[in-house]
Amino acid sequence: MRLGAHLSIAKGLPSALDLALKHQCQCLQVFVGNPRSWKTAPLPDEAVEAFRRRRAQLALKTSTRIEPVVAHMPYLPNLASCRRDVYRLSRQALADQLDRCARLGLEYLVVHMGKHEGRSIPQALERMARAIGKVLRAYSGGTMLLLENTAGQGTETGRTMEEIGQLLRRLDDPRVGVCLDTCHLFAAGYDLTEATGLKQLVDEIETSFGCTRVHVLHVNDSKKPCGSRVDRHAHIGEGCIGEAGFRRVLVHPVFRRLPAILETPQDDPGDVDRNLARLRACLRRPRQRAIEPAGRAE
Ligand SMILES: [Zn+2]
Ligand SMILES: [Zn+2]
Repeated sequence: MRLGAHLSIAKGLPSALDLALKHQCQCLQVFVGNPRSWKTAPLPDEAVEAFRRRRAQLALKTSTRIEPVVAHMPYLPNLASCRRDVYRLSRQALADQLDRCARLGLEYLVVHMGKHEGRSIPQALERMARAIGKVLRAYSGGTMLLLENTAGQGTETGRTMEEIGQLLRRLDDPRVGVCLDTCHLFAAGYDLTEATGLKQLVDEIETSFGCTRVHVLHVNDSKKPCGSRVDRHAHIGEGCIGEAGFRRVLVHPVFRRLPAILETPQDDPGDVDRNLARLRACLRRPRQRAIEPAGRAE
């Protein structure tokens, strides 16, 4: 499993690669513009070239290769919005982000499933399908679009695998895949700490769109309990999913093959390294069963 984190582009896109290297990341997620604004400064060709050059340099050695590099859409766009101006701006933002990603040679752009704003979920899925379909018809770049599941907070769609599957079926486009977030899954009601919860999730993935359409895993612990529908990321092992939960998820054959990207809080300088070390430990450590005291009642 390739491990990485969402890292800052405050010092420019190429330096995010060096930051990834510093943290011994094998994959990376970034914003490719201002995440909290509709207005984004143009991305100059020189910046694109510098990023591509640095990435190619690092790829010469297996130990420093950063792959995949994933972009995350800004927070304001809502591709399901029923407000006409927001809907139009969201569509434009998606087209602009895809264009940036393609120029930079990124593998994936992650977009959250939209908010229905009080309308019905089927209407929201229909609006999303129209917006994404329109953007993709005019798009010929190599970056894939990944739909990210949500906690189902407020009017968010995409809480269940079934809803994501419905949108994928309407789009019917191999350039669209799925990104799953462990915190969102757990808050949405999939109990990753139990074998039955994980099995239910995998069964739902299989019947809704199939495991091969999942390309990226966001690894975040959850401050809020299972089914709370509240999206609050916690450090690995310090939330309600806990180390035992991550050990279960990360070694599962469906998730093992995916790049795993941290979106945990970054308050202290050591936070990224600590969370990466915990993920590595979860991948390494044998199941708890092996060290249970002997002689327990059969
Ligand atoms: Zn996420
Ligand atoms: Zn989240």
